[in-house]
Amino acid sequence: MKILVPVKRVIDYNVKVRVKADGSGVDLANVKMSMNPFDEISVEEALRLKEAGKATEVVVVSVGPQQATETLRTGLAMGADRGILVKTDETTEPLAVAKILKAIVEAEEPGLVILGKQAIDDDCNQTGQMLAALLGWSQGTFASKVDLGEGTADVTREVDGGLQTIKLKLPAIVTTDLRLNEPRYASLPNIMKAKKKPIDEKTPDDFGVDVTPRLTVVSTAEPAARQAGVKVGSVGELVDKLKNEAGVL
Ligand code: AMP
Repeated sequence: MKILVPVKRVIDYNVKVRVKADGSGVDLANVKMSMNPFDEISVEEALRLKEAGKATEVVVVSVGPQQATETLRTGLAMGADRGILVKTDETTEPLAVAKILKAIVEAEEPGLVILGKQAIDDDCNQTGQMLAALLGWSQGTFASKVDLGEGTADVTREVDGGLQTIKLKLPAIVTTDLRLNEPRYASLPNIMKAKKKPIDEKTPDDFGVDVTPRLTVVSTAEPAARQAGVKVGSVGELVDKLKNEAGVL
């Protein structure tokens, strides 16, 4: 069984994001970019399934600019077999990405697509769900455990009341949560090997998908600066402040 893993190039999670002066978005100039952290978890899970003999091939796919090739190379260095770059300089919205992924799924026929639960740049948490809807496939979102059986996948999900396990019929969509696994680091020999692994280049037009954004960003603003904390001398003072200043008691 083939596993398809969509990986997005996003601002590295360690970078302090700067909002553009005109509020139209965030500044991407000279900023370190990396693979979306949830997508590293997806790649890791796909590789573990392959190593357990439950999958035969792991294909990583990214929709983005030419530099998204680096993101694909990261996945290949972790152990994925080949990559697909769908090249566009547009800001991609989840629906456009889901439509492109649908076309790739139809061509590649994977048994499982593992996506991140959300991209940390747009925080949309939509692509996996939209892809499941477009394909008419079952989906297990926010997975903290995935068990593959014969034609099925048991997905454990973190829900309000605890852990819920659902059984999906394959082919299916899974989106990954933080606790699913801890992604491996690529070793230097594997980074070198990844340079020789194939990356197929496509464009959204190849799939007949218009990626022009549908949403207009009205404004982007920095979060309000946090106020400094105060030290209290006693429990009594703390209770008094919570009651009379913060108004939370
Ligand atoms: P989102 O719905 O934007 O929060 O993204 C959820 C997941 O969809 C990500 O973790 C990726 O697995 C996938 N995804 C979103 N955008 C892209 C993209 N441009 N290229 C590849 N995968 C993407």
